[in-house]
Amino acid sequence: LQERLSGILDALTRRGALSDADVQAALREVRRALLEADVALEVVRGFTDKVRERAVGAEVVKSVTPGQMVVKIVHDVLVETLGSDAEAIDLNAPPPVAIMMVGLQGSGKTTTTAKIAKRLAERSKRKVLMASLDTRRPAAQEQLRVLGEQISVDTLPIVAGQTPVQIAHRAMQAARLGGYDVVMLDTAGRQFVDEALMAEMAEIEAAARPHEVLLVADALTGQDAVNLARAFDERLSLTGIVLTRLDGDGRGGAALSMRAVTGKPIKLVGTGEKLDQLEEFHPGRIAGRILGMGDIVSLVEKAAESIDAEKARAIAERMRKGAFDLDDLAEQLRQMQRIGGMQGVLGMIPGIGKMKRQLDAANLDDRVLKRQAAIISSMTREERRRPEIIKASRKKRIAAGSGTRVEDVNRLLKMHRQMADVMKAMGKGKGGLGRLFGIG
Ligand code: GDP
Ligand code: MG
Repeated sequence: LQERLSGILDALTRRGALSDADVQAALREVRRALLEADVALEVVRGFTDKVRERAVGAEVVKSVTPGQMVVKIVHDVLVETLGSDAEAIDLNAPPPVAIMMVGLQGSGKTTTTAKIAKRLAERSKRKVLMASLDTRRPAAQEQLRVLGEQISVDTLPIVAGQTPVQIAHRAMQAARLGGYDVVMLDTAGRQFVDEALMAEMAEIEAAARPHEVLLVADALTGQDAVNLARAFDERLSLTGIVLTRLDGDGRGGAALSMRAVTGKPIKLVGTGEKLDQLEEFHPGRIAGRILGMGDIVSLVEKAAESIDAEKARAIAERMRKGAFDLDDLAEQLRQMQRIGGMQGVLGMIPGIGKMKRQLDAANLDDRVLKRQAAIISSMTREERRRPEIIKASRKKRIAAGSGTRVEDVNRLLKMHRQMADVMKAMGKGKGGLGRLFGIG
């Protein structure tokens, strides 16, 4: 598969422009990659539609190959769909905060219950009580008790003959009396989603009023992921998803399926049987895994770099014409901030060592770059276009508006002047910027 996708991308690379047929061809491969990663069919359709919409309207930057552009869009949409930020378990409620774990049999509920309890006890210093509401499997409650001992987290004493709802009530009461911060409720699963399971889960939810209801699902879940997630989401107030067995061969397509169907965040992932093998969810990592391309991230980075280079080239062209104004400087500062240093346009221009050293000496760190951007944004449009009109009173106003001092404004204007002068001089000389950027 990897070869197939790369093959298509190479083919796109060799051609000049991105045609509809190219997009279609690339999307066909993307569709296949998603299906092979076990993303549910209906989710695949919605996803590729979204990519197509984005791709059609997208400005294809000259120096980015069409293939890179498509990959970047696919990757971006995938990460967006998976959720851009890691969302933590929410304990923001009056204690004891109940966390209910639901899912099919063998999905990893009990293990994950212990993993989360361990993390909350050790990292967040919470007093945690675990309770097994699994009365179906004979040894289930004992399994949780043993895990509790391993991680030094209390478990609710086992009382024979109680129903899951009775245990839930008892757990909440014990937590209140015992001054616990968190109660983890580990429930019983079934082989398949059925009415009996859903009814039991709904009853427990009504009894314990959990603040978090986490659906635990195996990363290997294939086309079933959609029905599974939908069934639980319809009957319960799901707050998040935990994906287990991400250490296995699964490509993690279930992450996309379940996220797309429920809109609920994937909060954590299980990466092994050991009780500390629980990690934050990183959309970028799963995206790369789903697409099945180890090098996709570098491809995407290359594309992003090229886009920056394209902007840099446009600025250079304006410099050559002597039209480098403060808006251009602002754009350049933005790029420097993003790249995190002096590797922007300046770094690409030979013979600019002296100015680079000056700028370095001026300590162009993030803070300074931000301050300079603030100064420029406190200027009027006219002032940005024609800096020469900025005299004393305007400087005072700009300094006040950007929370800086007049010296800072002066320093910025001086830097701009120096840059503009050097650019102009180089632009006039043969083989200056023009040759450098291939626009002479
Ligand atoms: P439950 O029936 O949903 O409570 O599932 P269990 O927690 O009892 O887990 C079933 C099996 O899956 C056990 O052998 C666990 O050790 C294993 N397991 C759970 N989470 C993971 C994981 O993230 N990675 C791996 N490799 N195994 C896991
Ligand atoms: Mg269990």
